[in-house]
Amino acid sequence: MTSNTYETITHAQNALELHDVTKRFQKKRGEYTYALRGVSLTLKRGEVVGILGPNGSGKSTLVRVVSTLTVPDTGSIRIFDIDAVQQPKIVQRYINRVSVEASFFKKMSSLENLLFGAKLYGITDRESRPRIEEILASIGFDVKRIGEPMEHLSRGTQQKIALARALLTSPMLMLLDEPTTGLDPRSKRDVQELIWKIRAGHDSSILLCTHDMGEAEELCDRIGILVDGQLIALDTPLGLKQRYQQGDELPSLEDVFMLATGQSLEDAISEKDDGGSQTTVAERATELIEV
Ligand code: ADP
Ligand code: MG
Repeated sequence: MTSNTYETITHAQNALELHDVTKRFQKKRGEYTYALRGVSLTLKRGEVVGILGPNGSGKSTLVRVVSTLTVPDTGSIRIFDIDAVQQPKIVQRYINRVSVEASFFKKMSSLENLLFGAKLYGITDRESRPRIEEILASIGFDVKRIGEPMEHLSRGTQQKIALARALLTSPMLMLLDEPTTGLDPRSKRDVQELIWKIRAGHDSSILLCTHDMGEAEELCDRIGILVDGQLIALDTPLGLKQRYQQGDELPSLEDVFMLATGQSLEDAISEKDDGGSQTTVAERATELIEV
């Protein structure tokens, strides 16, 4: 990294800036699905921004274009003032992503997965080992299980290990794609508490995609509503409620979603539930490599 890049990143006011980002996928010849339609948003340094949207609204695509796994068709993405499309290798050092189905080498232990994850970021085993123990202890992981294959661990525990792996690389921008979807209530709480700790103790900016209203409200400074690839609102939870207030009382976030989109989030989820996006083999492979 040149000292110039270092200067740029140190002085950047925003962790993330998206301007008019569009991403489409070809369905058939000449037919396209638009996953993102002209999305613009700014995430200030140290800010936690939530993106609330039903299945198929474009959340994962948003995370993928920001994490440089996918290139947008139009628009610009700047991460700490560095062009992410032009200079993916540089911005990759400062970001890390945890997705709904975190990829692991399932036959390998959590320790091996974590050491490997750190190594991809140039962190040696000697440097990462003490941090791994510290991070695992902080998430209440029983260190005796550190050598057990990942596939023996519950999904909740695997998800916590995924967050630990991301934390290990001290990302300045953390991208969380539905980190608690499908977890049992207890694991969900644990993972949310961990995100809360990251928020409080770690100098990190977070983009959190979720379809859990409570999670968004509790963890985020601002919340965006994404519907059919369009960001139709982005404000503080209070700002959103005030904007959609009709009577004397402030509406709940559920009400806001309903008023903004014309349907409840629950209906929107079940209606659009096409099993998520079709991740290509190539993308899966990159996910494993990128960690
Ligand atoms: P979400 O994460 O909110 O469920 P996605 O970003 O996964 O939404 O998907 C947005 C839209 O783009 C959906 O219609 C989905 O089917 C489509 N899509 C996403 N990824 C691909 C892909 N790799 N190929 C084709 N279509 C895709
Ligand atoms: Mg998704």
